[in-house]
Amino acid sequence: MYDITIIGAGIIGSLLAHSLSKFDLKVLVLEKENDVAEGATGANSAMVHSGHDPKPGTLKAKYNLLGNRMFPDLCKQLQVEYVPTGAYVVATSKEEEETMDGLIKNCEDRRIPYEVMDGDTARIHEPNLSDNVTKALSLPTTGIICPWEVTIAAMEEAMLNGVELRLGYKVESIRKQDDRFIVNDDVETKVLVNCAGVHVDDITNMLRVSPYKVEARKGEYFVFDRLNGKYIKHVIYPTPSVKGKGVLAVPTVHENVLLGPNSDFTADKDDNTTSDGLEYIRREINKTMKNIPYNKMIHTFAGLRPHIDLNDFYIQEDDQIENFIHVAGIESPGISSAPAIVKDVVEGIIMPKFAECRAKEEYVHRKPFIDMRKMSDEQINELISKDPDFGKIICRCEKISKGQIKDVINRKCGATTIRGVKMRCRPGMGRCQGGFCEPEVLKILSEQLHQNVEDIKLDKEGSNVFVALAKEDL
Ligand SMILES: Cc1cc2nc3c(=O)[nH]c(=O)nc-3n(C[C@H](O)[C@H](O)[C@H](O)COP(=O)(O)OP(=O)(O)OC[C@H]3O[C@@H](n4cnc5c(N)ncnc54)[C@H](O)[C@@H]3O)c2cc1C
Repeated sequence: MYDITIIGAGIIGSLLAHSLSKFDLKVLVLEKENDVAEGATGANSAMVHSGHDPKPGTLKAKYNLLGNRMFPDLCKQLQVEYVPTGAYVVATSKEEEETMDGLIKNCEDRRIPYEVMDGDTARIHEPNLSDNVTKALSLPTTGIICPWEVTIAAMEEAMLNGVELRLGYKVESIRKQDDRFIVNDDVETKVLVNCAGVHVDDITNMLRVSPYKVEARKGEYFVFDRLNGKYIKHVIYPTPSVKGKGVLAVPTVHENVLLGPNSDFTADKDDNTTSDGLEYIRREINKTMKNIPYNKMIHTFAGLRPHIDLNDFYIQEDDQIENFIHVAGIESPGISSAPAIVKDVVEGIIMPKFAECRAKEEYVHRKPFIDMRKMSDEQINELISKDPDFGKIICRCEKISKGQIKDVINRKCGATTIRGVKMRCRPGMGRCQGGFCEPEVLKILSEQLHQNVEDIKLDKEGSNVFVALAKEDL
């Protein structure tokens, strides 16, 4: 029997597993997709908001602020990037300037560092801000991360310390029998944590009538090729409205730029991008930005926010079913809040149930992924002398070697799909979007996993064309 079973391997489930792996506990994570970070965690603006925006008195306000302060140390521990870019919230009218006053009050009340500047001063720092911008609120504690890298790293380290992850495992039934939960008739657990994103209500309904209902709110994006910090240096927010934070311009840790998202309810919890949504982003972004380099646009994507009808995060042990814990309604700022939510769930709800349990004496830390772009020629030569596969470039756009791809496959929580490799070391993230390298990646997966090319699980993006090409090449 497991002590704790976590449903969902997004950033919440994975950080929970990571935190619990420090204790002598038997922990299991169940994930229906064939990799971690395949829900909202894999498709968002990738920002650690400062905490200036959520409504006073909400859990969102509390956890965003605390999470923002925890992120730099968490990223250092997991050996993933955290870049303190800072952000500008910009106003383009008197009404928006008044809305900005409310945000300034939040900053004062929450002790969030800020500075106010006029439009001309802001344009000195960010020359591509629209000429309509009259005022900017600078928020230097805003940061950017790669949310799926944080999630993968957290799960890798959790597994190095004994956590079990079952991928491709969809929770379809749960019953409570005496002091234990039985999931799909084959998992027994004392404590069950529900972090199933847009499906938290479906999970809860398996045990009782859910006290909340989830609606998916879609956000779409344009992705621009690596612009090396030349288009924007800070995150640029418009002044928020009833629909949320609005359409942003965001630099990423990998030097791309994102424009988006929109915010539209969708009945289908697995919905894709639409031309209407992207057109809306093009219109809205013109209010805050100019000189948009559409000729460098390489990709579009969409993510789904798990919005619950209670309009705030819902984080508590169930009031009717002992040992069933809800971590629900984790829409934005869910990434920013994740470390603080997890700390409270672990210290406040889970660990008091295991009062005798002690922290492990020995804890294993993960090693970072090998990033050859950041290495000197001497370091690269040394790597190649140890394994010539580091000299074989597979992805020409992002300059990723066969050695790097082997590394991300042969780890705990390693990649088993084309998309899994792409999310960990980026072949397919560049200008050609995998047109050249995907058959090669498939072949390397087949070699390393000792499977036939046809047997490698195709993910959302993998296609039979690549299977055919990879087979032809063998
Ligand atoms: C467009 C958009 C922009 C955003 N921008 C930001 C931002 O910049 N900053 C920020 O702080 N937040 C942002 N967010 C919010 C953030 O992405 C989410 O709050 C966060 O990723 C939620 O993480 P999670 O682990 O709760 O859920 P998810 O990442 O959705 O994970 C839930 C997991 O549960 C699994 N699951 C579901 N049902 C089952 C089942 N029956 N059996 C097994 N597994 C199951 C799913 O497959 C999924 O992997 C944004 C969200 C969106 C959509």
